Amino acid sequence: MAISAMDVKRLNREDLFRAVVKRGRAARAELASMLGVSLPTVARLVRELSDMGLVEGAGELPSTGGRKAAAVSAAPDARFAVGVDVTRNHLSMAAVNLKGELKAHERPVLKYEPTDAWREEAGAVARGFMEGAGVAPERCAGVGISLPGIISEDGTELLRSHVLDVRKPARITLPLDPALPQRLFNDASAGCLTELWGQEEPGSFFYLSLSNSVGGALVIDGRMVPGDNQRSGEAGHVCLRPAGTRCYCGKDGHYDLYGSALNLADPAGGRLEDFFERAEAGEKAFERTLSQYLSSLALMCVNLRMLLDCGIVLGGYVGGFLGPHLPRLRARAAALDAFQNNADYLRLARRKMEGAAAGAALHYIEEFIRGV
Ligand SMILES: [Zn+2]
Repeated sequence: MAISAMDVKRLNREDLFRAVVKRGRAARAELASMLGVSLPTVARLVRELSDMGLVEGAGELPSTGGRKAAAVSAAPDARFAVGVDVTRNHLSMAAVNLKGELKAHERPVLKYEPTDAWREEAGAVARGFMEGAGVAPERCAGVGISLPGIISEDGTELLRSHVLDVRKPARITLPLDPALPQRLFNDASAGCLTELWGQEEPGSFFYLSLSNSVGGALVIDGRMVPGDNQRSGEAGHVCLRPAGTRCYCGKDGHYDLYGSALNLADPAGGRLEDFFERAEAGEKAFERTLSQYLSSLALMCVNLRMLLDCGIVLGGYVGGFLGPHLPRLRARAAALDAFQNNADYLRLARRKMEGAAAGAALHYIEEFIRGV
């Protein structure tokens, strides 16, 4: 396909903006050599981006030649995007800026119901959050909504969710400013978008989302693979114990029963941070629960590793707390492995909290930057 002169200009502008956002502050000469364009071109692109309020002059940087170099810096808060992660009992909301930084987050209680009353209430909560975070609709690139279920390819419908008891396709939009685009995401895929954000060579990995329900997403060569039915990576419904307890999907012994964050949060009165604090303080019952949790997780991870032979990233609510327990988890996984005597392929998600809400928002930041 032929690329028009206009496209080249737009691509240059996008590349320059990405480079400035990433560095925060860069010399014009450096940008010119990095992008392979002339200084006058850089000056023009900077002027265009500056007119859009996305970059500003940033004084001078010392240059090796003695002369000072004119610098430009990003205005990362010129745009935001918002993510809303819907769970059975909560809404987790996150606002991120052009750099992908989390500027505000909240997690109010709101029980999901497939009703207009819930939509109205969730919309009011989201509008209140945006107002409190200083995100005006005209400065918001879009609102991503993350849900624990299967999402249609075009991101408009929740096809099915056992967790939310949605059995037939449901269109979900929130009553927000009509100019704001909205899109639905599977929660694990949204968490995975956060993991992918800003990585230059993400390679291939499996993102295991350990939240109140378990999900996952498969990334091959930097791209998420959705599968034939948008359900690639549904690790929660992999059978770990054939004669085990019944899963909420109606089948027996699925990993969700063992991997759900609720196994840990419930005994601690609903707060995961309390569970880990008490387990780490040596309370016997909590230590035992954690040990059982890690054993199931190790088995699941070894199975994934055996099938996929790639890194496994531990995300979701539980992932944020696993740091101190990673050596023990790795040792258990290694003991189950037929091929290797370590489990260094297991790593923690880069963002420890609000991965799903942030990921749903980052989709719109990426889209905004692509269209700059
Ligand atoms: Zn199941």
